[in-house]
Amino acid sequence: MASISLPAAPRRFKMYIGGQFTDGLSGEVCTRHSPGHSVPVAQWPQGCEADALQAIAQARQAFDHGPWPRMAAGERAALLFKVAGLIEAHAQEIGLIESLETGKPITQALGEIRAAADVWRFAAGAARVVKGDAHNNLGDRVLAMVLREPIGVVGLITPWNFPFFILAERLPFILAAGCTVVIKPSEATSGSTLRLCELLHGAGLPCGVVNAVTGLGDAVGQPLLDSGLIDMVSVTGSTGTGRKAILASAGNIKKLGLELGGKNPHIVFADACLDDAADGVAFAMAFNAGQCCVGASRLLVERPVAAEFTAKLAAKMARIRVGDPLDAQTQVGALFGQAHMEKVLGFIEQGVRMGAHIVCGGARTDHRDGYFVQPTLLTDVRADMPLMREEIFGPVLGAMAFDTFDEAIRLANDCEFGLSASIWTQDLSRALRASRQVRAGRVWVNTTLDNGPETPLGGMKQSGLGRETGLAGIEEYTELKTVHVNLQPRTHWID
Ligand code: NAD
Repeated sequence: MASISLPAAPRRFKMYIGGQFTDGLSGEVCTRHSPGHSVPVAQWPQGCEADALQAIAQARQAFDHGPWPRMAAGERAALLFKVAGLIEAHAQEIGLIESLETGKPITQALGEIRAAADVWRFAAGAARVVKGDAHNNLGDRVLAMVLREPIGVVGLITPWNFPFFILAERLPFILAAGCTVVIKPSEATSGSTLRLCELLHGAGLPCGVVNAVTGLGDAVGQPLLDSGLIDMVSVTGSTGTGRKAILASAGNIKKLGLELGGKNPHIVFADACLDDAADGVAFAMAFNAGQCCVGASRLLVERPVAAEFTAKLAAKMARIRVGDPLDAQTQVGALFGQAHMEKVLGFIEQGVRMGAHIVCGGARTDHRDGYFVQPTLLTDVRADMPLMREEIFGPVLGAMAFDTFDEAIRLANDCEFGLSASIWTQDLSRALRASRQVRAGRVWVNTTLDNGPETPLGGMKQSGLGRETGLAGIEEYTELKTVHVNLQPRTHWID
């Protein structure tokens, strides 16, 4: 029994370009069905290239001639704090939008919106800390200054798995730096981004500073990658989309921030607290129905405890409450869509055909109104199986045993991605040695998926380029400019 009822009709949103809410030039509309209920819940314009070009022109104008990059950081901070308050005040409403469009549980969605407000507050405060440097040690003749300037117009391309939270990990940092922006949210989950634009407008953000265009990646995202009027593009999405950004940048040399896929290992050593580790691994593999870039997707367990640990883990996973995203008791909601669910089930079937053994889960649940898959644990897997190499983005975990520390590290690093890793052991020096040797942008020890706006996030290897959040997350959207000032009469080069 759902604690919140479904909307009677889909909610209608508009794009936001140059301070105006618009249906766009094509007149076409995109309708999103809730993946947990298969009913239409939201509509927004199916934008076209011309909409994207208009938005880019508005953001360029606002950066080159508008007040935002020129005002004191304290003034920008005041507006960002105001937005954080508005997000909190509208958390229930935005959380519902998010849950209906993504299929994630309502309680989780609400938590993400409140956490997003906290990220906005951090970025607001940090805006005032951004500064340059001075070199007073170059001799009496010269003083040099290093100015830190906003990079300019940013294209911000976001995915469907955490539409509002990922936006919060980037947008307020971009704004704190003094940049202007064109956002291209996922075509499937644009509602919370467009609702945020309404809040930004109400808070008094100058026209053109934030613009949002909706529609397909090729139609409205690619123009951001190709535009010579955009100085930097931040893409959070699949490695394939990251590659498109790199190809476009070969033509126009714009700066790229890329947050891409992951295939994240959890290493469980024999001395770990196995109950804690089992709980942590179950959470990390099933959170957001496994559609979490830093979620657990490869389990490496030290051989003497492998059987005991997988039994504990399977017992935990079997008790995860999968179901209606609008039910407050639900822990795991629906997968993003039918094709995605079939892809996830396909990895499981292929693994079984190649010799893997299902310990728990392995199939759809019986909630036939949506796309729900049981949290699935597979053993007897090999490192060369696709389910251990490719990003599945579903609640599926393959488990392998290892014999030595070096083997655990080799297996953990035997992967084209390097986004996150979790290490479970009670031996501090083993934990620190493993943390240093694993190639990943984020490492957790005896915990997982911990997060906070103070610390930077990002990936190594094919998981991406650059860092978001923390002070690094503002500096990412700035450029350094060096100014040399001569303080003495010139010694002439030509007599
Ligand atoms: P996706 O790559 O399909 O889409 C991401 C965004 O890129 C969407 O807005 C899409 O419309 C846009 N896009 C697609 N083609 C484009 C083009 N030609 N030009 C410009 N934009 C284009 O990814 P997704 O399926 O929405 O999200 C899931 C992926 O995101 C997973 O691979 C996941 O690991 C990754 N992800 C990474 C992080 C991270 O921080 N590293 C966080 C969340 C998600």
